[in-house]
Amino acid sequence: MVFVPSLYVMAHPVSGVLDADKQSMPAIPSLEALLASIDGMVYRCLADATWSMEFVSQGAFELTGYHPEELLGHAAVSFDQIIFPDDREHVRQVVHEALGNGAKYELEYRLVRKSGELRWVVERGSAVKRAAQGVSVLEGIIQDVTNRKKSDENRLEAERRYRSIFQNAIEGIYQSTLAQGYLDVNPALARIYGYDSPSQLIEGLRDIGSQLYVDLNRRLEFMQIMERHGSVSNFESRVYRRDGTVIWISENARAVRSEAGEVLFYEGTVEDITQRKFSESEIHFRATHDPLTRLANRTLLEEHLEQAIDVARRDGKCVAVAFLDLDKFKYINDSLGHQSGDELLVTIADRLRHCVRESDTVARLGGDEFVLVLVNQLNQKTVEKTVQRILADVAKPWIVNGVEVQVTCSVGVSLFPAHGSNSVALLRHADAAMFEAKRLGRNTSQYFSENLDDAGINGLEMISSLRRSIENQEFLLHYQPKCDLTTGAVVGAEALIRWQRPGLRILGPNEFLPLAEDAGLMEKIGEWVVRTACLQNRAWQDAGFPPIAVSVNVSPLQLERESLVPQVAQALRDSGLDPRYLEIEVTENGMMRHVERSMQTLRRLKELGVRISIDDFGTGYSSLGHLKHLPLDTLKIDKSFIRNISSDYQNASIVKAVISLAHSLNLNVVGEGVETEEEYEYLGRMGCNEIQGYYRGRPVPAQKFSQAYFQAPEEAAPAA
Ligand code: C2E
Ligand code: CA
Ligand code: CA
Repeated sequence: MVFVPSLYVMAHPVSGVLDADKQSMPAIPSLEALLASIDGMVYRCLADATWSMEFVSQGAFELTGYHPEELLGHAAVSFDQIIFPDDREHVRQVVHEALGNGAKYELEYRLVRKSGELRWVVERGSAVKRAAQGVSVLEGIIQDVTNRKKSDENRLEAERRYRSIFQNAIEGIYQSTLAQGYLDVNPALARIYGYDSPSQLIEGLRDIGSQLYVDLNRRLEFMQIMERHGSVSNFESRVYRRDGTVIWISENARAVRSEAGEVLFYEGTVEDITQRKFSESEIHFRATHDPLTRLANRTLLEEHLEQAIDVARRDGKCVAVAFLDLDKFKYINDSLGHQSGDELLVTIADRLRHCVRESDTVARLGGDEFVLVLVNQLNQKTVEKTVQRILADVAKPWIVNGVEVQVTCSVGVSLFPAHGSNSVALLRHADAAMFEAKRLGRNTSQYFSENLDDAGINGLEMISSLRRSIENQEFLLHYQPKCDLTTGAVVGAEALIRWQRPGLRILGPNEFLPLAEDAGLMEKIGEWVVRTACLQNRAWQDAGFPPIAVSVNVSPLQLERESLVPQVAQALRDSGLDPRYLEIEVTENGMMRHVERSMQTLRRLKELGVRISIDDFGTGYSSLGHLKHLPLDTLKIDKSFIRNISSDYQNASIVKAVISLAHSLNLNVVGEGVETEEEYEYLGRMGCNEIQGYYRGRPVPAQKFSQAYFQAPEEAAPAA
């Protein structure tokens, strides 16, 4: 007969169902069956040294591997023996405590199954004093909780692992709430934000919105996205570190909600992307700026110009596009070296930046071409002020290798809306205006006008056709007579270059030589000129005309080049012209640029036997005193002094002084630009030797020249 433990009744409060069972079924068999079906071992034992079992339910087998019979009365093993040795003391202690105060007990410990396997169990029981025998009896149930224990351990392990990730992550990790700020942060976040520890961060960074975010709007955006989508990813913002420095971070975060859907807290990660941002911005900078001067490049220029046009259209204002090209930069670059050339460009860039306002754009298109976009202009007057400042600032002297150098620039300006409605047109028109400024003699500015466009004066186009003009035989020389003032005879001719492209009007030297110089084409053109002039002069002599001297102009640039002397020598050899019939004209200014080098070239030319003439005398800086050091034959008084010489007292006295000085140096004096009989006569009276000018004859093609000025035209041979 199995004893029904009181525990059973105690463990299950009387329920309606149970009552019904009790009434409808025999109580004992059903309880026995219930006990057997209970998961775990129901027991009653004595509180003695070995926990002598009086009752053990069927569950014992499942739990311990021993049948109830083996446990009852120590038949095979005492219960104390199957408690894991390490845990026996603990079990005894808990039970004795419960005995002492008559309470229930609950404890966990390990059992050693019959197979030797360890199981975790939980035991719940109560102690009852059996007054009659004076012993205590324990009743209770022991259940296997090994699986629960394992999953607990797994959970703990997972937590430990998570904690370790949290602690050691490189990324910052946080949990925060709107109201309380940070709940938890890891060391990486503290590090990123410049705090010594997570707790210091949590303490110190109470108001995330205003303390952390550089732009409060960015924080609001963050909240809005969170609100709407419950998460943000790769959200980039600038934040303050503890020391006030600004860094870039990228955040991934999500809102953790309660079952009811309300936000409990946010959790997220933070990555310091300052370095990456820096590289990105550096890459962007390089894509939009000129590396040498750090000015905007063409891409950025066009972008800014488009924007400026949009704004001006809206505000009814004006935008100016100033296209700037340094004068003769190629020459500076070649003669001073590329490094100095680069330095110059950087200097110019700085000066340009200082000439304009912050909102304007200064760009370098490459080479020595710069473009400025001046925004918010009222009219041409306001633009002109800036343009004048640019011309003046660029032209300020600049020291390279201890030598003072001056560079000027030519500026072309187009205005929105007057000269174009889009960036392409404005840039093209400013470019055309810039070439017009070059044509006008450089160091000046020019505004775009419709006839510039009509004439098709597009600098780039012109340069590229200039390059081909020699092969295409588009250059020609016109010859202007020089005559002796005492005899009236033609004693010489000056060769003057012209450029004729098919179907277009003839261009004079001032219209294309500045461009040729800038494009580095001057040496080649110069060579052609000397050669052609020598061949022509020799052809005239071969045709039997009386020999005359032909003079050829040499630009200052050519004068400083090694190539000039060999070119002249070669032209003389090839033509077979006697050197004394060739005269080289150099301008005063040209000679003074690099006195030493120019002097050397002149001396070597002189050694070849050619004559040397100083051109445009009076327009330069050189004093009369300089003249005696130069290996000269002829001095040409500039036409500005000849003008109105009979009425302009001052001009007359200068001319008089120059003639007498030149004569004292044994120089032949030529008056240039003589247009009237009056001027002609006056110069004659002053003792001038020769004149050249429209009065005696305009520059004409070779054939016309021989027809007009030589006596035996029948045998005239055409030029080579
Ligand atoms: P330049 O050497 O002073 O040449 C004289 C210029 O004055 C020529 O202009 C000529 O046509 C012009 N002229 C002559 N007589 C008169 C006159 O009575 N009144 C006025 N108002 N002008 C007169 P052009 O042909 O246009 O040449 C201009 C300048 O171009 C020349 O000035 C010279 O410096 C340069 N040039 C011409 N051909 C060459 C060349 O082959 N090589 C180089 N490097 N420069 C050249
Ligand atoms: Ca000349
Ligand atoms: Ca001249």
